[in-house]
Amino acid sequence: STERKFFVGGNWKMNGNKASIDVIVNNLNTADLSPETEVVVSPPACYLDYTSSRVDKKKIGVAAQNCYKAEKGAFTGDISPAMIKDNGCEWVILGHSERRHVFGESDQLIGEKVAFALSQGLSIIPCVGEKLEEREAGLTEEVVFRQTKAIADNVKDWSKVVIAYEPVWAIGTGKVATPAQAQEIHQRLRTWLSEKVNPAVAQNVRILYGGSVNAANCKELGTQPDIDGFLVGGASLKPEFVDIINARR
Ligand code: PEP
Repeated sequence: STERKFFVGGNWKMNGNKASIDVIVNNLNTADLSPETEVVVSPPACYLDYTSSRVDKKKIGVAAQNCYKAEKGAFTGDISPAMIKDNGCEWVILGHSERRHVFGESDQLIGEKVAFALSQGLSIIPCVGEKLEEREAGLTEEVVFRQTKAIADNVKDWSKVVIAYEPVWAIGTGKVATPAQAQEIHQRLRTWLSEKVNPAVAQNVRILYGGSVNAANCKELGTQPDIDGFLVGGASLKPEFVDIINARR
């Protein structure tokens, strides 16, 4: 795990306004952030330019929360990878559990978005994770591997991919996976990547944990051998996001 750079993403979801973004960005720009952590924040689409023009780009990247799989055209309400790049951003989150379960995005659509975003030069944070009833039915690995296959089949350059494992039952619920529960799935996912993609990709790709990560639980999660960082929702809007960035200090 030591050669994989620790990565912490902040998914702001549909929260904030210019005033609250000013507070978050000023805090991050002036904070003592570990240079051993890659940091990316993800504002709502309408604030991509506002955020990317204010963050200290030497320390902080910016991700869109979603995009469509076409260059341009009659796709009302959506945005393209080129628009994300035109707003000074290098990343996009794809297949977040809220995209899957609130908006009904399928594995197939997410796979197509993965292929298109990569082809347009974005780096991507594709998300996978099981629902509570799937975990309780013993289907965690089946679901996570199926979702990951739909992503992996569409990736050629893995250096542009950071996977987020986010058990749906832990997202926004305050119910964090135990370090052992998270490590178990991260390790199995890495083994799957080794067998189905190749050992070098498995060794080098960063796998983030997401789901109710906060300043209090990040240190123990962050020292698990197959957890290479976090995708953080609620706590990324708060000053404690800095403590999560510095979890390995
Ligand atoms: C997320 O949105 O990816 C997430 C993990 O949210 P939270 O940290 O609030 O559970």
